[in-house]
Amino acid sequence: MKSKEEIVEEMQQVVEQMRIDDIEENPDSEFETFECDACGQEKPLAGSVEYEGGYRLCNDCVLIAETGFALNKIKNVKEVIDALEYKRLEGLCDIIKSEQQKENN
Ligand SMILES: [Zn+2]
Repeated sequence: MKSKEEIVEEMQQVVEQMRIDDIEENPDSEFETFECDACGQEKPLAGSVEYEGGYRLCNDCVLIAETGFALNKIKNVKEVIDALEYKRLEGLCDIIKSEQQKENN
């Protein structure tokens, strides 16, 4: 049996390799961005993965998802998206805050 730490380490390597492969295949993907369906942030296309249901996750969120699958913590990618809901709200609040600041100036 592998320890949790070993699984996490292995997943980090796998997910990082996906990013490297994407950049090798398409160097532009390092700089092209998209809005991640899980964390809601603008992230590079490199290392992102499109999952069932058409959800595209950034490399950071892929790591969370794949580690979750490997540890049997989650069953599908929707659970990752739901778990990261607060992060998206946080990002949204930041946008609203910075817009309010602009208005005040
Ligand atoms: Zn993300």
